[in-house]
Amino acid sequence: MVKETAYYDILEMKPGCTPEELKKAYRKLALKYHPDKNPNEGEKFKLISQAYEVLSDPQKRRVYDEGGEEAIKGSGSGTAGFSSPMDIFDMFFGGGFGGRGGGGQASRVRRAKNVVHQLNLTLEDLYNGTTRKLAVHKNVICEKCTGSGSKSGKAPEKCTTCKGNGVIFRVQQLGPGMIQHMQTMCTDCHGQGERVSPNDRCKNCQGKKIVKDRKLVQIHVERGMEDGEKIVLRGEGDQEPGIEPGDIIIVIEEKPHPLFRRRGQDLIVNMELELVEALCGFQKVIETLDQRNLILASIPGEVIKTGEIKCIMNEGMPINRSPHDKGKLIIHFNVKFPEVIAPEVCPQLETCLPPRNECIIPDDAEEVTLREFDPKTHSRRPGHGGGGSYYDEDDEPRAAGVQCQSH
Ligand SMILES: [Zn+2]
Ligand SMILES: [Zn+2]
Repeated sequence: MVKETAYYDILEMKPGCTPEELKKAYRKLALKYHPDKNPNEGEKFKLISQAYEVLSDPQKRRVYDEGGEEAIKGSGSGTAGFSSPMDIFDMFFGGGFGGRGGGGQASRVRRAKNVVHQLNLTLEDLYNGTTRKLAVHKNVICEKCTGSGSKSGKAPEKCTTCKGNGVIFRVQQLGPGMIQHMQTMCTDCHGQGERVSPNDRCKNCQGKKIVKDRKLVQIHVERGMEDGEKIVLRGEGDQEPGIEPGDIIIVIEEKPHPLFRRRGQDLIVNMELELVEALCGFQKVIETLDQRNLILASIPGEVIKTGEIKCIMNEGMPINRSPHDKGKLIIHFNVKFPEVIAPEVCPQLETCLPPRNECIIPDDAEEVTLREFDPKTHSRRPGHGGGGSYYDEDDEPRAAGVQCQSH
């Protein structure tokens, strides 16, 4: 039992979800609420980031599950609290060169921002591979002034606010005898350390050295790529004078398919059989994701039961970077029983079926009525959590109360 669920609620997850599910939830929400796409949702973006920061760390997650938000804030494990939402985002979606997120502050190469985009693809796209064009908005160095920001091309003056450092140092009092040195970006020069005098400003970029640009990029999606996989276009992200450009990072989002479910390299399909097919054999056709037709048939004399699973080798998803190999196509069978059967045909039917066990009725046996039972209308077992169903999902359907003895 967890103490609070707020962090899980923010990520639209249930306590007890797997680290993989958390990752996926963060990925979706962070892309949706990133300030580039949703400038008015900064607070939400921050909350998503904080929740993910705690729940993605097994130790912090345990502390939170046991003691809630208060325990996290008082645990001291995070010292000065949370990381910046942008750092978490960059670390998660990190681009090329290992410059970001990796290593300490000193080894970090200063690079312009990455541009992160989500690309929604169908299972067919991922099975067959595809090419997409995507319009990307990014900052590029102004062509008019080649990034100087001035009409004359003269070097800009040193920023007086930060004395050319681009950052401002502050000392923050945390408590008695405890101080922290804080470093924040100078907002007057946007961290550049220099400014162009108003009369000499380049008209094209208003002295900002960069302009907004819309660029069409071509994205090649390889066969077998997966949900959450990233395609990195190195150096195609934002540009800023004097530093390395960022990357364009495309994150693949796999749309649900009406027929197939994917589990890694395997595809899963549910197949419903009529009772006659389950008992007397069947032939079925499945259309693959590249529009071939596969005929499946049972072996004569074979009986298929509900819950039975079979597979076809090499008809799953193509394996990325080894596109001639594929996973398995896994078929889950469900047998549909008829609602009623005419009583007069029963004796005839019975001659074909395995014999029944004889039922011996004691003299004092009482006759009772079997009624329909709907688990939903009956109260749940206490202490069974909010699962909803009366039975556990994997419980076998129960037999009637009276059981005949076999002889
Ligand atoms: Zn400055
Ligand atoms: Zn310019």
